[in-house]
Amino acid sequence: MAGVEVKELTISKALEFLEKGEINSVELTKAYLDSIKRIDSKIKSYLFVDEEGALKQAEEADKLRKNGKKALLLGIPLAIKDNICVKGSPTTCASKILENYIAPYDATVIERLKEAGAIFLGKTNMDEFAMGSSTENSAFFPTHNPWDLERVPGGSSGGSAAATSARLCLGALGSDTGGSIRQPACFCGVVGFKPTYGLVSRYGLVAFASSLDQIGPFANSVEDAALLLQVIAGHDPKDSTSAPVELPNFLEFIKENENTRFKIGLPREFFEGGVEKEIIDAIEEVVKALGKKHEIKEVSLPHTEYSVAVYYIIAPAEASSNLARYDGVKYGFRVKEGNLLSMYRKTRALGFGREVKRRIMLGTYALSAGYYDAFYLKASKVRTLIKKDFEKAFSEVDLLITPVSPTLPFRLGEKISDPLQMYLSDIFTIPVNLAGLPGLSVPIKVSSSGLPIALQIIGPHFKDHLVLTLGRQVEKEVDTKFIPPEI
Ligand code: GLN
Repeated sequence: MAGVEVKELTISKALEFLEKGEINSVELTKAYLDSIKRIDSKIKSYLFVDEEGALKQAEEADKLRKNGKKALLLGIPLAIKDNICVKGSPTTCASKILENYIAPYDATVIERLKEAGAIFLGKTNMDEFAMGSSTENSAFFPTHNPWDLERVPGGSSGGSAAATSARLCLGALGSDTGGSIRQPACFCGVVGFKPTYGLVSRYGLVAFASSLDQIGPFANSVEDAALLLQVIAGHDPKDSTSAPVELPNFLEFIKENENTRFKIGLPREFFEGGVEKEIIDAIEEVVKALGKKHEIKEVSLPHTEYSVAVYYIIAPAEASSNLARYDGVKYGFRVKEGNLLSMYRKTRALGFGREVKRRIMLGTYALSAGYYDAFYLKASKVRTLIKKDFEKAFSEVDLLITPVSPTLPFRLGEKISDPLQMYLSDIFTIPVNLAGLPGLSVPIKVSSSGLPIALQIIGPHFKDHLVLTLGRQVEKEVDTKFIPPEI
């Protein structure tokens, strides 16, 4: 692609080039497929690359464009987390139990991306069934952080984040149950957005914890994230939890409101002990700059400290029920041995990895007779208190700014044998899922050790457009290109 630097491309820039005829989608798709061939053996962001399918879709997109077709993502190559169904492609959730599973239908988000003309490069690596914060729980192999190959890309959508960061796609989809879009986006220096619960259909997303799961975009600019959201958001009769709300035009809205002033809250509890100093300093620097235009105020979310405990009752409880369907009969993997009961047992014993089994046990225990009130019911009550904290904060301010992760990207192997340490990675992202709110991770700085730092913007329900608007303003304030070192 003469004159076009893939590293500098965003979706919106690529669309301009395509529109002007300076490049075509086949060239663009080939450029990404070549990069994947060249460096993904080191990053390992993809589980499956659909070279043939992607090139076919690109040819089709070029034909449609020639015939005057207009569509929001016509000819744009994307990557999809491997827990979202793409018809005819493997959907393994990075689990042995789904190793040979080929999705027989498209998730609603995929249908919408197809209608918008997107190209699917392949499926990305993740923690098994989205349980984890480092992508080391993949049953196949861990993914590496493009900024430092010895470090994790975060998780569970680590493959999508790493692929977007290393420019092995123009954008990607992930899912976020407790931080799985925002934390890997933060670790890889890309934009990651978890929409309000109910804004995006979950039909065709393999369920982990249904009251928390949401699909959202990864991109190299807030504008691109808004564009992807535009395409995937909206009511879907196939998902009863998807909300029939009027959608703003996200992209237009954030552009029209680039000078809108907000009342921004800094929740005290999110800046206390345990957060690395360089992260706090970087956020304070941005907040100071924002203070010239916006009103900044300290607020309190007093029940934050219970979030991780509440999450690790509710999420495993829902997971233990959702994962009951993998019994060796209905899906893929089966140990053909013994009677029905021993077949079930052996299939699940060999098919699931350690972390997944830990969650199934935790969840089954929390739901069992005699313990339900003490654990699940109590956790649900505290969840309500956490929600109310946010409601109160949003009666005082429009949006909140917090850290995404208390630490910089850690080394592979550093936390894998200590689940509690791993669980604590999500301390600032989990409350957002428990309350069903929109949360955005925006990169703001490269640390002295060369690793990305991000901040999180949280908004009230269905104020996703405001979150993105402030995100774009932060991005303008920062003005650093988050391009990882050459691999
Ligand atoms: N890391 C959290 C967990 O392990 C969150 C995962 C997610 O958002 N899918 O459950």
